[in-house]
Amino acid sequence: MITIGIEGTAHTFGIGIIEKKGKKCTILSSIKKTYFPDKGIHPREAAQHHITVAKDIYLEALKKAEIKEKDIDLVSFSMGPGLMPSLKTAAIFARTLSQKLKKPIIGVNHCVAHIEIGKILTNAKDPIVIFVSGGNSQIIGYSGGRYRIFGETLDIAVGNAIDKFARIAKLGNPGGPKLDKAAIGGNYIKMPYSVKGMDFSFSGLLTSASTKIDQNKNELKDICYSFRHNCFAMLTEVAERALSHTEKSEILVVGGVAASETFKNMLNIMCKERGAKAYAVPTEYSGDNGAMIAWQGALEHSAGREHKIEDTHVTPKWRTDQVEIEYIK
Ligand code: ATP
Repeated sequence: MITIGIEGTAHTFGIGIIEKKGKKCTILSSIKKTYFPDKGIHPREAAQHHITVAKDIYLEALKKAEIKEKDIDLVSFSMGPGLMPSLKTAAIFARTLSQKLKKPIIGVNHCVAHIEIGKILTNAKDPIVIFVSGGNSQIIGYSGGRYRIFGETLDIAVGNAIDKFARIAKLGNPGGPKLDKAAIGGNYIKMPYSVKGMDFSFSGLLTSASTKIDQNKNELKDICYSFRHNCFAMLTEVAERALSHTEKSEILVVGGVAASETFKNMLNIMCKERGAKAYAVPTEYSGDNGAMIAWQGALEHSAGREHKIEDTHVTPKWRTDQVEIEYIK
């Protein structure tokens, strides 16, 4: 069964094509383009970007997958959560395609799609998931038909904090890799570390790091190193506690920030010390992409789900733990 997935929740528009055979997923293509503004994301401009690139991405995805339109069996799209104008663009594209090809359509949750692509590509079975991106920071575990959120950010997401800090420090975009470069050779200086029960907060840390830049008393590499260290140490602490509470034995990190080698190293050390396994989604699929949306659609369709066109309205505030998972037995 061949599924096409359309991703457009924020600043990336992506189309992926996958083939599902039994429990196996083969990614035939995954093409995407991201809009990088100088300042923060302007939702309307992001949507305009998606409209501009959609047709070329679609044609390239078909070409790379070496299939024709008529080979598509199912259309899947990111129905939420995300920015309303971006979501609407992806939804309109998906509805049009479904009606043109006369193939079923399914709207899926973007966050759950990040988790499932991570699981299938790493072979993790029942992990504590660390979902870290520009818009999300959650510690998640499956239990009783849903992905439960054990801990989450009380304010901004870690990727957003990193990107904002990188802008303030004039490091450029995207923040993660630029911060890594700037932190080379840095030493730790004291900065806020905010874990509250199973939740965490990044805004105080961001303010402190930004203020240190303005004050010009510390070396930039030390500020970058320490800011990054505390971001990842807070997440690692809560993930370890989730492992301990649930008695699960695997960690899986997904989302754009999963590309961070520093974070992955920290998680590896923590897991090694407690006899758990650490997995990370391959970097090519850590950021937003269409392949994960296609795989999620295929999984849900295998459990009998489909949408009527009139039920495909987008849901900007759809939480991970609101999704009923029917395909895990
Ligand atoms: P979502 O809609 O899922 O919240 P998003 O729109 O923010 O996601 P993603 O592509 O999942 O998009 O994640 C982008 C984030 O990943 C950015 O904040 C970026 O700085 C961060 N990132 C990318 N590479 C790295 C890296 N090597 N280290 C740390 N962060 C990284």
